[in-house]
Amino acid sequence: MPRKVFPNGPERGPVIRLEKLAGKAEFLSPLRAFGREVQEFEYRLDPLTGHVSVICRGRSSYIMKHFSQDEELLEQLIRSSRPNCPFCPGAVEQKTPKFPPEVAPEGRLRLGDCWAVPALYAHADFNAIIILGPEHFRPLDQMEKALLRDGLSLALEVLRRAFRAYPRLKHAAVIMGHLPTAGSSLLHPHMQVLAMPVPFNRARDLLEKSLEYHRATSKNFWADLVELEAREGSRLIGHIGRTWWLVPFAPSGRYEVWGLVENVPDLLSLSGRDVECLADGISRVLRAYADMGIMAFNMALFSGLLGEDSRAYFWPQIRLCARFGLRTSRLSDFWALPVLLGTDEVFEAPEDYAARFRNYFA
Ligand SMILES: [Zn+2]
Repeated sequence: MPRKVFPNGPERGPVIRLEKLAGKAEFLSPLRAFGREVQEFEYRLDPLTGHVSVICRGRSSYIMKHFSQDEELLEQLIRSSRPNCPFCPGAVEQKTPKFPPEVAPEGRLRLGDCWAVPALYAHADFNAIIILGPEHFRPLDQMEKALLRDGLSLALEVLRRAFRAYPRLKHAAVIMGHLPTAGSSLLHPHMQVLAMPVPFNRARDLLEKSLEYHRATSKNFWADLVELEAREGSRLIGHIGRTWWLVPFAPSGRYEVWGLVENVPDLLSLSGRDVECLADGISRVLRAYADMGIMAFNMALFSGLLGEDSRAYFWPQIRLCARFGLRTSRLSDFWALPVLLGTDEVFEAPEDYAARFRNYFA
């Protein structure tokens, strides 16, 4: 098995092992009069899943342009999409569907400046859209904590109601994408709440591996991970209430950040204070992205099965990652390696960008 190249992997013992392996590519470069060029890599193994991440250091300055936006193209999209936007003020009542009475007799839910409405084209048995405020477009440094708090509170309220109406929908997530390059077909800031009778693949893998770890050690992997990261220090970026914010040792996404909510049974058990802390952390990460010129991102918040207490082996968690921006080059960051082989590269070591993100949590 290829995993044997890692000296101690893939067996997981009573302690979390952070495995890495150095690699290099060599060729005769036309940029150096055909002298030998050596490009160094680092292969890292996710300590829970064994998922391999390829770290290609030193390319961030070259690659950062792909994360930035073509301002003219963005302005054009904002202008052209506004007139037909179903999420803009006035259009919501006319153009968005209503929930059936078993979920919400009032049809649509509101909290502060946010709305919860059903998706017109559902991706799962239950699919709500959370409209984040009246502004048709928001750069990431304007995704304020209060707006995200109201949006997440509304997402969990509508999920609570859906689970009461349809108890078979035990697998749920709150997701978000910003800009078409992050897979979002509508520009107006929004989240989606999904609940299905079958698991999301990544969440199932994490739950299964976390349960295996618990059976082998009688411990919770996520508690052990936070303890290790707090002790080691180079990837932990912040701690707000019961939420722990860190950069993963082996990221799957670019500039990926995780927020773990300590010792909570499932998504529906998150308290108002937990939601506030999550919103605070998300807004800090998005400010860091904005300052790096990043505007497109994805986010997913998920937990163990709804209505079940997974505290012994799993914690609810949120993951965010950056996506390429809106540019005339139309280059996608979802290429053959991640699409078909589930493997991708990151251009900066997690410890390096963690140091920058930590400033936003100070
Ligand atoms: Zn709009």
